[in-house]
Formats: sequence, C-alpha cells, structure tokens
Amino acid sequence: MPKQFKVNNPATGELIAEVKVNSEEEIKQSLKNGHDSFEKWSKINAHERSRLLRNWSHIIQENKEQIAELMTLENGKPLKESLGEVDYATSYIDWYAEEAKRIYGRTIPAATETKRIVISKQPIGLVAAITPWNFPAAMMTRKAAPALAAGCTFIVKPAEDTPLTTIKLIELAHEVGIPTDVVQYVIGDGKEVGDLFTNSEYVRKITFTGSTPVGKSLIKNSADTVKHVTMELGGHAPLIIAEDADLEFAVSQTIISKFRNAGQTCVCTNRIIVHENVVEEFSKKLTEKVKKLKVGNGLEKDTQIGPIINEKGYDKIVSQIHDALDKGAEALVGNQYNANKEQGYFFVYPTVLKNVNLNMMIMQEETFGPVAPIISFKEIDEAIEIANSTPYGLAAYFFTNDYRTGTYLHDHLDFGIVGWNDGAPSAAHVPFGGLKESGLGREGGTEGIEPYLETKYLSIGNV
Ligand code: ADP
Repeated sequence: MPKQFKVNNPATGELIAEVKVNSEEEIKQSLKNGHDSFEKWSKINAHERSRLLRNWSHIIQENKEQIAELMTLENGKPLKESLGEVDYATSYIDWYAEEAKRIYGRTIPAATETKRIVISKQPIGLVAAITPWNFPAAMMTRKAAPALAAGCTFIVKPAEDTPLTTIKLIELAHEVGIPTDVVQYVIGDGKEVGDLFTNSEYVRKITFTGSTPVGKSLIKNSADTVKHVTMELGGHAPLIIAEDADLEFAVSQTIISKFRNAGQTCVCTNRIIVHENVVEEFSKKLTEKVKKLKVGNGLEKDTQIGPIINEKGYDKIVSQIHDALDKGAEALVGNQYNANKEQGYFFVYPTVLKNVNLNMMIMQEETFGPVAPIISFKEIDEAIEIANSTPYGLAAYFFTNDYRTGTYLHDHLDFGIVGWNDGAPSAAHVPFGGLKESGLGREGGTEGIEPYLETKYLSIGNV
C-alpha cells in the first residue's frame, strides 16, 4: 500500500491534500481498541448516548459551510448539493439520537404459571463500515448514528477519492466527547482494509455501501466468522411515465432523480420508460430543461452538474453513450465532454438519448452519470417487464394520476424503494434498501437500528 493517498479536486485535477495511509498494525490496533471500548460504551445509558449524538449533529451544523466546501472540493458536487448533504447527514444522527431511547424489549406470556419470559435487545459489538465517494457524509452517518445509538462501537474506512469529509466528521464527534476508540476511521486501500475487517474476530458486523461485486466478496469473506452484514449495493432504477402522467411535473422530478450529483447515485434513474403516445412530448420537454443545466466547478454559484468523480467513472459513461449511438440511439442533447486525462478532470454534459433499445449497454448496466436513455412502451405490463429485467432492485419511479395504474405498478415492481409521482423519496425516517442483488438489510427509519441489535431471550423458571 502507498504511504499516502493523494486527494484531488475532480473539477480541476488539483491536489487538495495528502492523507496518511494506516499500516496493517495500526488498523489491527484500531480494531482492538474498538472492541475493547465496546464494554464501557454499551453500558452507558441510552439518554446519554442520545445527548452525545445530538451534540455531534449540532457541531456538524455549526461547521456546515466549511464541511460542504470540503465535500465539493473532494467530490465535485455543486455546493448547494453539498450543503443539502450536510443536512441529510445530520438528519440521520438526529433520528437515531431519538431512536436510542426507544430500543424496546418485550414480555411473552409463558406456557406455565411458573415461568416468566423476557425478550431484550443488546448491541452487537464492533461495527466496521466501508463507504463510497458519492455521499461522503451521509453514507457514513447513516451507519454510524444507528450503531452508536444502539451501543455499538464503530470504525469506518472512507472511499479513497473522498476521505476528507469523513475525517472531519469523525473529528467533530471526538470534539463533543464521543470517545476516540468508540468512533474511529482508518485510511487504506479498499481490498486490503476490507480483508482486515472481515478477517477480524473483533468485528461483529460489516456495513457496506458500494458496488455489487465488492458487496458479494464482503458477504463471502464475512462467512468464516459469521458476521452480520448490511449491504447497500448497485441499482439500475427504472422511471415509468404512464400515458396519463402530468408531464410537466414528471419532467421536473426526472431531472431531480436523474441528474442529482451528476447522476452518480445508486438511486438515480437509469432507464426512462415512456408510454408511446407521450414519448415525443416527454422527450421534448425533458430536453428543453436539460439544455439549461449548467455544467461546471461545483464551487461556482450557479453550477448544477459537477464533474465525474474519476477516469474510470468517466470511461464507463462515455462507452455507454457511444455504444448506444452505434446501435441506433439519437442524442437529443449532450454527447459532449470536457475532459483532460493528464490534468485529471472529467466532465460529461447532460445527455438525453432517444430510440434506445434493450440491447444497448446503457439498458443493462448502471451508468452512474448524467445520461437519460428513453425507451417507449405500449402496455403497462411491457413497462413492468422492462423495469424488472435486471438483477438489481433498489429504486423505481413511476408517474401516473390513475390510482389503478399506480397500485398495479407498485404491486409488480421488484424494487425496495418506490417513488409514485416522487423523484426523491430518500429520507432519514424511512427504510432505504434494495431487493435482489441490490443488497441486504435496510438503513434509515425504525428498521435501520435493528441490524445493530441482537435479540436475547430470557426464560425465568421456578417463579
Ligand atoms: P466504486 O466503483 O463506485 O468506487 P466500490 O464498491 O469499488 O465502488 O467502492 C466503494 C467502497 O468500497 C470504497 O470505500 C472502496 O475503497 C471500497 N472497496 C473497493 N474494493 C473493495 C474490496 N475488494 N473490499 C472491500 N472494500 C472495497
């Protein structure tokens, strides 16, 4: 492993910081410290843990502008989106600060008069998290907050491209008094740190947000020590426009769902499936709006679309666009680029593709970029078949004002998150997660604390 990671601004390629990579010994020591501090942390009463979490949220909000700027520098997203992400990140801390006080057990009537049965919950132990670059703050707090609320200790490895926001947030947690061994970060290569996490007998749970292949390997590697796993993996979200949809509204929501973070989120719309009678009008309206999106450095005030995170991401997007054009698609806007491999910046201008078909790569794989491919359908079952024809099952969206069409779509779409006339359904108070190869478990909402808890059953006899 190199001794340092270079963190570059993806909008300019400029070096922002060099971050020290932890040695294997240091990471093993951190895991031991996390394990050793569990006993004490888990016994601290829930109201005190809640207070510390509220203070963490508060100090993050006090430093909101600085954190958002750091996030834009390392991730590239427009400053407005970074400010929004800081709010989104603290919303998880706020939610789980309250949930800490609501970890309830049960009593169950026994089958004899001489027994009493008590069910209680206890934290599972040290949690190791691996997080992605696309939401450097929120993907971490969505895991750290329920873990700490439950009484678990927590260690995170942020993505190589965006470690700075995570480091800042963890330092702020220490500043408000959450012990340094209770919430920690380590810096290193994904595979190497991932192996240290999964091989460690101290780690009781792996929580991961990232690609499906890496998630599968973490699940396999967790088997030897039978760790708990929560996996938030890839998506390939369909967005269906029914014949009766309010097109103006649907277009505005499609813009949010498709182009947020330059299309680099796992719930971003990836396939737009439109009824044949409205496909022309929808495509025209969408194209008009997309033409107005301002591409640039996220620190500039009016930027709406920032850079692509790195060369690998850029190459994938460009190859998908070219593949679609080669196979007969037409670009209504976009297919324009501003990239410099030597300097290290990569912009893809928002692109709308029509005449797309199922043989194109873009209809088969997650794009993670600002490209909106449009395909048409005749019958609603055909739209459902296209939507479900993927191993992924994270998010799906549809637009209709007909309640029968809406409930039918909801019943038949195999996705964990469904937006009906809603292009942005994610929130701290709801369960986020996917079906099929999009993952295991849920984050957020009441469901999001359960994966950090064990259920213990006590039977008292001879009463
Ligand atoms: P992406 O291709 O979008 O970067 P990844 O799944 O590769 O998605 O990365 C998400 C996170 O997983 C990052 O923190 C990365 O360092 C980490 N990672 C990458 N490869 C592995 C691996 N083999 N084991 C564990 N973590 C990994």
